[in-house]
Amino acid sequence: MIDAYYRNGKLSIAKIWALNENKPIKEFDDSTFDSLFKDDNFIKNNYKKPLKRFLGSANVSDEIGDKEILKNLKRYFEISSKTTKILENLNGKSKGVCSYCGAISEVVTNKAFIFPFERKINSIVGDSNRLVFCKKCAFTFYSAMASLYKKKLGDQNMLFFFDSYDVDALEKATENMRHLQDPNRYMEIKNFDHPRYTMFYPYETMLVVIFQFIKNNLNYYKAESKHLGSLNLYMTYGRDQLYGYMQIDGSTLQKLSDFFIKIIKAGRESENISGPNPDDRVFFLFFENLLVGKGKPSERAMLREKFSYSLLKGKIDFITLNEILMEKTKNGEKLPLYYSEFIYNYLEAFNLDKDIFQQINGLGYKLGLQMKGTNLDNYIWEIFRARGVEQFLNSLVELQSRLGLEVDLRPINDYENWKEAKAILLNGMLNALYGRRKENEQRN
Ligand SMILES: [Zn+2]
Repeated sequence: MIDAYYRNGKLSIAKIWALNENKPIKEFDDSTFDSLFKDDNFIKNNYKKPLKRFLGSANVSDEIGDKEILKNLKRYFEISSKTTKILENLNGKSKGVCSYCGAISEVVTNKAFIFPFERKINSIVGDSNRLVFCKKCAFTFYSAMASLYKKKLGDQNMLFFFDSYDVDALEKATENMRHLQDPNRYMEIKNFDHPRYTMFYPYETMLVVIFQFIKNNLNYYKAESKHLGSLNLYMTYGRDQLYGYMQIDGSTLQKLSDFFIKIIKAGRESENISGPNPDDRVFFLFFENLLVGKGKPSERAMLREKFSYSLLKGKIDFITLNEILMEKTKNGEKLPLYYSEFIYNYLEAFNLDKDIFQQINGLGYKLGLQMKGTNLDNYIWEIFRARGVEQFLNSLVELQSRLGLEVDLRPINDYENWKEAKAILLNGMLNALYGRRKENEQRN
């Protein structure tokens, strides 16, 4: 992660240099890089530029003092009240060995606005062994804030950035992400203009951010999905020192992009129902309906956060999804729309077994349709509560005989995890019994 952040800093410096010298960025090489730090002028003349990117030009005028800037930086970084100057903390004062490049020179102790992740990732450094940097490394890490993204979620901060060995891909991603930043809110990631986009936790937020990112650059990433393949996305979140961390690699980003492209297409092709615009339709009518219960909004989103985590990891947590649907059924809340489109397209994009999902889901749906209008719907709860695979299959066999049906149970027996098979089956039943799609079909 430290190398990844450094690469961002180097790119940010290359951009500053290219603009100052009016030269193409490709001419920026390592000797140019070194030459910038022969004296202190480059740092002195340019140190507000990364700040302008991070906090927005409106918040970092040329006249503004460090005190005001630090006040704003403290919204996102842990900075001690003893720190009152920025420039002084970028120029080494005492001799030491740079923790990053190993140079013996004048070094500075790391500050959160230089490398913000020192304390957040335990493996990097212990309390007794703080990071120190030479002038060049300190300013390079510091400059990476130009492509560091942030969002406040309650009392937590979420920070993330991209990395790639492919400078073009990295620059493009950085540029594309800028459209999601809000200049009126310290360049934080936008709230996406609608209450249904309100997020409470880091993983669900990350999922929405990636969705918006792909949606805004749909044609580009359709044609250049290989650019995503070379990227890595690093995110941290939390408050004080309790920081969580996730890395999303390029192949996952590429598959997520495929998935989002598919459901945007499905939204455009689906029947015209009121609600969000066609591009948002499948994602949000599914996603917003994963909120459960009548508690505080943040409590209602807890299971959705758990489910979002699995999606970012390249998996579908069917068991959590089933928990959400069961709970919503119990509360008489509306079930998510576009269930099958969402799940099927995800499985397809991630090369997961979509056929067996379809078989079990279809089986559940078929049973659910037959249960409609009978008093057998309490079987849903009996199946849900089944403690072991035998109890589960017994309830299922009992149900089918009460319905007078012959059902092929092989897909369930073939599925490697019976609890997951049970979850998929139950979701199919619930969608047939209580889903709104069915109502639409009957109306037509
Ligand atoms: Zn160094």
